[in-house]
Amino acid sequence: MDYIDEAQIVEECERRDALYRLMLKRAPQESQYRDPEEGRVLCLDCEEPIPMGRLAANPKAARCIECQYDYDREVLYESRLYAA
Ligand SMILES: [Zn+2]
Repeated sequence: MDYIDEAQIVEECERRDALYRLMLKRAPQESQYRDPEEGRVLCLDCEEPIPMGRLAANPKAARCIECQYDYDREVLYESRLYAA
């Protein structure tokens, strides 16, 4: 592999990262879903209570870490589908 190949790979990764960040920024902020009885914030996807630590770090979190990760990956996948 020469410098040009390497530079192309780096460029590709950076473009993908930039696109990903842009998609995340543009994704609408989803409102949280609360357990009507206990008032805890529940994950939009798995409906498990979102841990307090996660809410402390991100008070507007609408998903648990695992579901957010999957969701972000989906957004990234879509951004790549519609990028070209
Ligand atoms: Zn979840």
